[in-house]
Amino acid sequence: MRLDAAHRPHPALADARPEVFWLDDPGRPPALPPLTGSHRAELVVVGGGYAGLWSALRAKERDPACDVVLLEKDRCGDQGSGRNGGFASASLTHGFTNGVARWPEEMATLDRLGADNLAAIGAAVERYGIDCHWERTGELTVARAPHEVDELAGLATSLRSAGHDARLLTAEETQSRVASPTYQGGLFEPDATAMVEPARLAWGLRAACLELGVRIHEGSPGLGVARDGNGVRVTVPAGEVRAERAVLATNAFPPLLRRLRLMTVPVYDDALMTAPLSAAQRESVGWAAREGVGDAASMFHYYRLTRDDRVLWGGYDAVYHYASRIDPALEQAGPTHDLLAAQFFETFPHLEGLRFSHRWAGVIDTCTRFAAFYGTAYDGRVAYALGFTGLGVAATRFAADVMLDLLAGEDTERTRLRMVRERPVPFPPEPVRSVGVQLTRWSMGRADASGGRRNLWLRGLDRLGLGFDS
Ligand SMILES: Cc1cc2nc3c(=O)[nH]c(=O)nc-3n(C[C@H](O)[C@H](O)[C@H](O)COP(=O)(O)OP(=O)(O)OC[C@H]3O[C@@H](n4cnc5c(N)ncnc54)[C@H](O)[C@@H]3O)c2cc1C
Repeated sequence: MRLDAAHRPHPALADARPEVFWLDDPGRPPALPPLTGSHRAELVVVGGGYAGLWSALRAKERDPACDVVLLEKDRCGDQGSGRNGGFASASLTHGFTNGVARWPEEMATLDRLGADNLAAIGAAVERYGIDCHWERTGELTVARAPHEVDELAGLATSLRSAGHDARLLTAEETQSRVASPTYQGGLFEPDATAMVEPARLAWGLRAACLELGVRIHEGSPGLGVARDGNGVRVTVPAGEVRAERAVLATNAFPPLLRRLRLMTVPVYDDALMTAPLSAAQRESVGWAAREGVGDAASMFHYYRLTRDDRVLWGGYDAVYHYASRIDPALEQAGPTHDLLAAQFFETFPHLEGLRFSHRWAGVIDTCTRFAAFYGTAYDGRVAYALGFTGLGVAATRFAADVMLDLLAGEDTERTRLRMVRERPVPFPPEPVRSVGVQLTRWSMGRADASGGRRNLWLRGLDRLGLGFDS
């Protein structure tokens, strides 16, 4: 089903609150006061999503005496980190296929580092007592068209030859895990993914930072970064932080370094949350292992159960707005939500009658290689990591360690990686950027609808190692 087919408001959305489900939680911590006046620190972190919070936390874990200030423009965890699907993936490369295509000789190392990173997040959740329902459920990828069944078979072979536990499933086996008549096959990877409550993870990291002595200021947008003697200065509306080093972790938002402006584009990813399933509805979908589910299409859905057995249903229609516009008004895209609702009931026709309780969107920082890239500025005093695209829940922790290694000038296994040393190709400026992104999205939709056949445009991008994804 395509967007133009579903423009009438979907009745199941009639009472859905235009709010992020995960942030609509009495556990949301009160705001911390903004920074005023001039302050000194060893490390200043700009951005209070996972990347910034992990950077501050890892800096303290690596050196408890390190004096760290974190500046967040709004509230920590309000953006992507508090509004995502909660799929914490072991992949550091936005999926195995993307990693193998770009860094084949490093894949074994990247796989090991990614698995260690995921385990370390689980250990931190336990150590700091973060109540975020961390579940090592694994992930199920479902095929809903014959060409997707073939693609999953190829992927399973590649994954297994790289030592991963990847179990190819028939249509019946897939449907016996999660009951949808649309499934024609599946691939289950038990070790690939953990499920988490995203905002609670961010708030838990924030609490751990505070406990270790990080000074966090919310409502404190970093306006600029500049050289300051042997260090750097970050200014905010009512003050400044002068520090030896800085981490920039601003994701899809306008970067503080000019050179990064064409490196990412903000893309809106939309999600819906259902009301809790009744006992009968819960039984009708199976889903005993509570695994995260994604479909194998180019324009894919991701979905999962919550602690109270709602279904989060998101993805498909990644939307870019001209000139990289970011605006809270863009978070309530009626047609996109109507389409998502219709597609939900195509997948789960037996849940007809279920209503959605929440609808929202958030921005992701898409880059042309889909996996985060890293760098430094001001002679190594500033480090950044951007471009997580749609898979930063776990990769941001790894990125934090890379940034701290770079700031310390340390030669580590991480900083030696070609993945870390190389940069992606930038996006072109407008209006070419918009035309390119829309053409790519249109072509991806066509490929899904025509047996996976990629048109000339997509094949050209593939050859150049470029792309657009969510
Ligand atoms: C709907 C949706 C679903 C997703 N699902 C998944 C998923 O299931 N699995 C997955 O791995 N990934 C998913 N993602 C992506 C994932 O959420 C992100 O990759 C991850 O949260 C990135 O963390 P971050 O800290 O880099 O960015 P953010 O969480 O965006 O944090 C950046 C922070 O910086 C702040 N900031 C920006 N500019 C400034 C400034 N100048 N001064 C001070 N502060 C500033 C922002 O306010 C923000 O809080 C999803 C994203 C969305 C939107």
